[in-house]
Amino acid sequence: MIGKIKVGSCLLIAGLSQLAGAQQTERPNIIFILADDIGYSDLGCYGATKIKTPALDQLATEGVRFTNAYAPASTSSPSRYALLTGEYAWRKNVGILPADAPLTIDPTQTTLPAFMKKAGYRTALVGKWHLGLGEKDVPVNFNGEIKMGPRAIGFDYAYYFPATNDRVPCVYIENDRVVNWDPADPIQVSYRKKVGNDYTGRDNPELLTLKPHLGHDATIVNGISRIGWMDGGKKARWKDEDMAQVLLDKAKSFINEHADTPFFIYYAPHNAHEPRVPSPVFQGKSAAGIYGDVIEEFDFCVGEIVKMLKEKGIYENTILIVSSDNGPMVKEGYKDGALENINGHDPFGGLRGQKYSLHEAGTRVPFIFSWPDKVKSPFVQKQNFTYLDMLSTFAGMLELPITIEEANDTRDGSRLFLQADAPKYREYIMMQNNGGQIAIRKDNWKYIPATRNRGAELYDLSTDPSELRDVMMAYPEQVAELKKYVERDYKK
Ligand code: CA
Repeated sequence: MIGKIKVGSCLLIAGLSQLAGAQQTERPNIIFILADDIGYSDLGCYGATKIKTPALDQLATEGVRFTNAYAPASTSSPSRYALLTGEYAWRKNVGILPADAPLTIDPTQTTLPAFMKKAGYRTALVGKWHLGLGEKDVPVNFNGEIKMGPRAIGFDYAYYFPATNDRVPCVYIENDRVVNWDPADPIQVSYRKKVGNDYTGRDNPELLTLKPHLGHDATIVNGISRIGWMDGGKKARWKDEDMAQVLLDKAKSFINEHADTPFFIYYAPHNAHEPRVPSPVFQGKSAAGIYGDVIEEFDFCVGEIVKMLKEKGIYENTILIVSSDNGPMVKEGYKDGALENINGHDPFGGLRGQKYSLHEAGTRVPFIFSWPDKVKSPFVQKQNFTYLDMLSTFAGMLELPITIEEANDTRDGSRLFLQADAPKYREYIMMQNNGGQIAIRKDNWKYIPATRNRGAELYDLSTDPSELRDVMMAYPEQVAELKKYVERDYKK
């Protein structure tokens, strides 16, 4: 009798815990993959023919491909700031951060990872950070614990590089410590003057495997001179040709370890930012030179993530989003032959501008959404969207309550992800350049307000997608309406 009761209770407990497990795993995992400097037309599914991106094309074919999705800004730090905080970066004057900037995100404010963590997710950053480290006026000590970074704003786990792949220190940080740090070889970093005795691109150009084009001529790491000087940390320094694989492996390990609990991963590879140094497998692989090679390497990484999700049996219930932090720039810091060997590939898809610009190619980016459990009929979403809105949009998708304070500048665009003809979700899209000047997209109109140095511009993207004909004079009523939004909402 007693035995029977015992067996019964055990079964009951087992049954309950299975039920709890099932409820937990119903929450979809989320992976937001943010490429660096990949342009609107750099992927096959967005028109590229000389760059092969089969993994991304398949995601787009089976999911949702946005044709009017915008990065919040035309450069790195402000776009990333807006994604992770749900706040316009111009409110805090965030432009491209110097490598020694303090942590830009206030740890007390709501962030996307903190919001997901509160909802029961395990959260991780893998890849590029570029949002500052440490406290104001206290230089970061790369030989100790680096507390004020990704883990202070809601990431449980972080494996990242501090700023950009063309800046020192060329090291990875795992959680709070530099990976492979050697006490016998302490790290020193400066952006103002030379530190240590390492060779520099300026003084010893004969040692370079990649010649700098603009600046980028300080300490040589792995045959490439960087922005800024560093000394020490020889064992910790990365090899550019290994970076994609190192970061991919960390993202895959996190998926592997957390396949049973809902996870949120912000995976931010360095591709296709300069210096462009893919692994040997991808060197010379594309038909668009080195420019295409690093994009094909990025596609491979996305494919490996998909493969891992399928192996774990969690692909169907994972939200996978792929986008880019800003538009493309073919020739910037290094003489890598990208422009010379691009072989007719058009990264801009006929749009005007590039990285840094308020014209379309600066911020209109590829944006692909996959969630096989919910998207049964794939479609192309042509409506305007900005990924500034991910905080409210994920809340909408997951039916999580969100307060007005938490939502900050974001609006819930989740219906666009499941329905091509969803109602318009916000009045207009606002994008910014590195200096915090803005442009507005409303329906087919694109308005760039006047600044001290230039007059206002208005374009009708339905007839003039390349922004070649300024129609300010022809549509005074449109201008008045758009100007009203700027005066109401943009308080720099
Ligand atoms: Ca970028």
